[in-house]
Amino acid sequence: MKENLNFKKFIIDGLRKANEQDNSLGDRSQYIGASDIGQCPRKCYLGKINKQVLEERELLAFARGHASEEKFKKSFEAAKINFDSQLEIRSKKHNWIVIHPDFLLKMKNEDIAIECKDTKTIPEIPYESWVLQLQLQMGVLLENGYNIKRGMILVTGMLEEKLQAFECFFDPVLYELALKRAQKVWDALQSNIEPEAEKSLLCSYCHFQQDCPKMQIKTEMTLPNEFLDKVEKIKSFSATEKIIKSYKQEITDFLKSTDVKNARAGDYKVSLSWYQGREKIDTTKIPTEILKLATNKGDPYPVLKIS
Ligand code: SF4
Repeated sequence: MKENLNFKKFIIDGLRKANEQDNSLGDRSQYIGASDIGQCPRKCYLGKINKQVLEERELLAFARGHASEEKFKKSFEAAKINFDSQLEIRSKKHNWIVIHPDFLLKMKNEDIAIECKDTKTIPEIPYESWVLQLQLQMGVLLENGYNIKRGMILVTGMLEEKLQAFECFFDPVLYELALKRAQKVWDALQSNIEPEAEKSLLCSYCHFQQDCPKMQIKTEMTLPNEFLDKVEKIKSFSATEKIIKSYKQEITDFLKSTDVKNARAGDYKVSLSWYQGREKIDTTKIPTEILKLATNKGDPYPVLKIS
């Protein structure tokens, strides 16, 4: 089997074209949307005034997001829930804010705003950026006469193959905070002055990283808050990994010593397989000059350590 890079390029180009042709959200430089306040103001501002060519991983992330929404749509339809997925609502107080909730469920006694997220792993609690995004949507819906008390953040965790629904009630204080963030980007657009950058999980996806003032500090820095949960998990899993390794070693030693390949433990099957060892080169047998000519250093690679 061999890679067909032309076909892959054909698919990616198609996704890019479909993305560029999708004008369901209109000209995003003319308004502030809910998703704009959930990201770094500088990235958002520069993204609105510059055309960006999306990379493969961004295109795939968008495609996954659309696929998730389709999946939920089917679920609501099957449950015969009255819902809207094409809403575009302008704020009455700030007519430069326009929201496009992923779904608005129209229940008997209330309307529920739904925001869908697709991530590798689901955080313990929703990110602040997601919450503010939903608060802005709920606030604008309330202004427009919708019967909103709460919203849901529906998160699909790709690696865990899990779904999580975080319920958030409308909070006027958080709504004000969301409005302030929206105002910051809107003011920047009106004045053409870049707003202050804010580091986040999305910095590694940012097209404006190269000249970002926050990225010029090369000494020790504080990671964005969203990473804290991940670092803590890595630390706790590292201890578990060591324990698992030692358990595996004990069982391997036991099976080796008894010369048994297959065993049972409760309902589990335990087996010991042997693989051919890697080929080794005895460098002491190669003349130094030839060894020098034949050796070159591999590319540097990053190793993450957490202490
Ligand atoms: S690199 Fe990070 S902090 Fe800088 S503009 Fe991009 S998202 Fe903002």
